[in-house]
Amino acid sequence: MGERVNCGTVFESILQKAETGGTLARDDIVRLLGAASPEQRGALHAAAYRVKEHHVGRRVRLRGLVEISNACRKNCLYCGIRRDNGNVARYRLAQEEILGLADAARRFRYGSIALQAGERQDAEWTGFIEDTVRRIKAQPGAGLGITLSLGEQTRETYRRWFEAGAHRYLLRIEMTQPEIYARFHPADHSWQGRVACLGELRAAGYQVGTGVMCGLPGQSLENLAGDLLFFKERDIDMVGMGPWLRHAGTPLGRAHPQPQDAEGVLGLALNMIAVARLLLRDVNIVASTALQTLAPDGRERGLLAGANVIMPNLTPAAYRAGYTLYDGKPACDEQAGGARRRLEAAIRAAGETPAHDEWGDAPHFANRQPIFLTNPKGNTP
Ligand code: SAH
Ligand code: SF4
Repeated sequence: MGERVNCGTVFESILQKAETGGTLARDDIVRLLGAASPEQRGALHAAAYRVKEHHVGRRVRLRGLVEISNACRKNCLYCGIRRDNGNVARYRLAQEEILGLADAARRFRYGSIALQAGERQDAEWTGFIEDTVRRIKAQPGAGLGITLSLGEQTRETYRRWFEAGAHRYLLRIEMTQPEIYARFHPADHSWQGRVACLGELRAAGYQVGTGVMCGLPGQSLENLAGDLLFFKERDIDMVGMGPWLRHAGTPLGRAHPQPQDAEGVLGLALNMIAVARLLLRDVNIVASTALQTLAPDGRERGLLAGANVIMPNLTPAAYRAGYTLYDGKPACDEQAGGARRRLEAAIRAAGETPAHDEWGDAPHFANRQPIFLTNPKGNTP
């Protein structure tokens, strides 16, 4: 009994330090991530929620997600659309379809759209993206914010897409220790190259998002604590994290055939969101589709643990099966009025408001600008 009380006290004092913005050591983060009892989890998520309320409010930023192609030159060992998966029918949306979906996102008042795909670097593709971004920006009506999630590219490509009008980019580092990255990727996939891309994105002017998967075989809480500290050190603007979910047609899925413990993985993913909020304060944090895969209300639970972004999936139903990154990915078409109303109602039931007609940038981005950029008159704030 005495020991339990003592553990509780240590946990609570670390949590209090975290909530008030004190510096967290790696061991502190491990302790918070390990919150497993309903009491500790409840306290952790509530503290993260208060920090979220203070820094980004209770308004959920929305981005209409369009998975524009599943063609990929890479072979990440966990991913269902990896190049060597011959069971995937490859597709690419026509530009007209993408423009139509951007228009729908505007009508749904999402304010932003996110274009995601497998990775291609050839000139035909990079030109197609540049032109598509330009056309979305030129559509009538209020300009949509555009987030891209199109993998590793050259400095030149990142700059062209930024010039065309994209202003946020999501590139998950996936795992922040190079030796762990090497376990889940073929030898020609470079962790250092991916880190360099994060630097290029920053230099090009984007709001930069990154993230990791949690619950990977052999991954420890110490590894995940290292991941969160990496985000802090890199001063990133947005976090997109989620649980690893098994895909039976991948090398990793075949090596780990046993079913996953959905509640356990979801609990870990929610703790990651909560600790990310406590550590990073004013960034945007996504409640990912993978959470929804583990529990129908997974995204709302993500909001209550500190996330503030939801990406309703606008990919047309005909292409959905082609973008199966992991087994069990929800197939619901959130373009449909019913699904949209249900999502908005669920957001409101969680005590939050959908933010309409705005880009929904992370305050962190404005806060990290030099004073002369945010305050042209040079006044001290
Ligand atoms: N090709 C781009 C973007 C599409 S993949 C890129 O890799 O950056 C988007 C994300 O899907 C990846 O960052 C990865 O974290 C996630 N993903 C892939 N396979 C997954 C799996 N089996 N479980 C959970 N997330 C997965
Ligand atoms: Fe391609 Fe992205 Fe999947 Fe890796 S995670 S195989 S880069 S789509």
